[in-house]
Amino acid sequence: MSSTTNEAPIAPIPLSRKPPGEPSGEPSGTGGAGAPGAGKTACIRTFGCQMNVHDSDRMRRMIQDAGYAEVQRYEEADLVILNTCYVRENAVDRVRGHLGELSRLRREGRVKKVALTGCIGAAEESRSLQKTYNIDLVLGTHNTYELAEFVGLPTMRETYTPELPGTEGEHSAFVTIMTGCNYQCSYCIVPTVRGRMTCRPLESVVGEIEDLVAGGTRYVTLLGQTVDAWRHEGRRFCDLLEAVSEVAPRVWFTTSHPSNMEDRTLRAIGERETIVKRLHLPVQSGSDRMLRLMHRGYKADRYRRKISVFREAAPEGTLSTDIIVGHPGETEEDHEQTLRLVEDCEFDSAYIFKFSPRRGTEAADLPGVVPDAVVQRRFLEVLRGVEQNALRRNQRKVGKTEEIFVRHGATADGKAIGETWSGHAVHVDTDAAPGTYVRAAVQSAGPHVLYAQTVD
Ligand code: SAM
Ligand code: SF4
Repeated sequence: MSSTTNEAPIAPIPLSRKPPGEPSGEPSGTGGAGAPGAGKTACIRTFGCQMNVHDSDRMRRMIQDAGYAEVQRYEEADLVILNTCYVRENAVDRVRGHLGELSRLRREGRVKKVALTGCIGAAEESRSLQKTYNIDLVLGTHNTYELAEFVGLPTMRETYTPELPGTEGEHSAFVTIMTGCNYQCSYCIVPTVRGRMTCRPLESVVGEIEDLVAGGTRYVTLLGQTVDAWRHEGRRFCDLLEAVSEVAPRVWFTTSHPSNMEDRTLRAIGERETIVKRLHLPVQSGSDRMLRLMHRGYKADRYRRKISVFREAAPEGTLSTDIIVGHPGETEEDHEQTLRLVEDCEFDSAYIFKFSPRRGTEAADLPGVVPDAVVQRRFLEVLRGVEQNALRRNQRKVGKTEEIFVRHGATADGKAIGETWSGHAVHVDTDAAPGTYVRAAVQSAGPHVLYAQTVD
């Protein structure tokens, strides 16, 4: 099923980010008064996963380098970029809604240009959308750099590669270590829109992270569709993770595939101080029959075994997963097995998806479509199982004092959003800046979040 490596040895070229050790000031490459987009505005809307958030970061640099000012409302934008997700049909419906609104704003002369990028841009369907909504520019996931030309910059393919660091606020950064996917899961459109796996060299990843850390980054998330499938010149994901954990003050990674997850990596999560003890390992189903139909490449008991290694390595850690309900052919017995697996693994959280047929995938043409009402019931049953376990596990944290990394500063209600080293999301009463740590005692817990109060 998987996995050959297709290398892309392109060194990162920091652009708008201040190179470490340089005096602060206007970052090099950022558009000034003479830039092609000077005086113009652009709005970027991102749909979907962290990969898309990261892609939007790269596009943000392009528009900034071209001199555009970023705005948050369509009404104020000369150029609107919709960076999209194609994984489920409801994601496409949402984008259609936005495109409809943009057509109206364009007729009223408030928006001038619209670009559609990301996974929908890479799919067949983008052609009909382009016609229907008169979209000016459609880009897939492999030619995002062409946006540079569209906004008046020279096309510099090597300058805007996925290797560029993306930022999530000032103190956290996404770092793409691989793109694409070599699996062919029955239901999934990702291999079609993102292509086959390409892994970055270890030195390039570590070098980029050293630069980021020197520039103030405190939290690095390694990104890829199957990060743990990363391999390069005889080295495997755990080697990369260990190397990164030596240079980054805090590191997490997503998304992993159970077939690639090595015990060594699970143990490293427990042993290495700088790795957040949080594992996201999508299982999709608890039924071996469904896992085979989905071409996942593992059985439910193998997944359970991996989880027991993780729980032993990081007893306080958090575990999340993805589950699809209502894949064609899913019987009541298959569903029961998923509920059993949910009980056995005691997930701390889960993304539960109702199966959505994607044209061009194998599952879209499979017989045994599950009626909507049955899908809805199964969805709620899985959700209930996950939430009961999550609540029980979260409540064990009440009364404990934790070191919390502040991710987002306090909002109007005085609560900041942070994360424990065990990977729990926490609402905490502090005005500490994002990127810093506070100590706080957990007062109460819900199924999704802990509530804590700072202590001296
Ligand atoms: N690469 C990851 C893996 O294999 O676990 C997941 C990537 S995918 C973008 C995120 C999640 O979307 C999947 O784990 C799956 O649960 C869900 N998903 C993908 N295609 C779907 C579909 N056609 N219908 C419903 N859920 C889907
Ligand atoms: Fe690849 Fe994940 Fe999609 Fe499977 S679900 S094809 S592993 S991206």
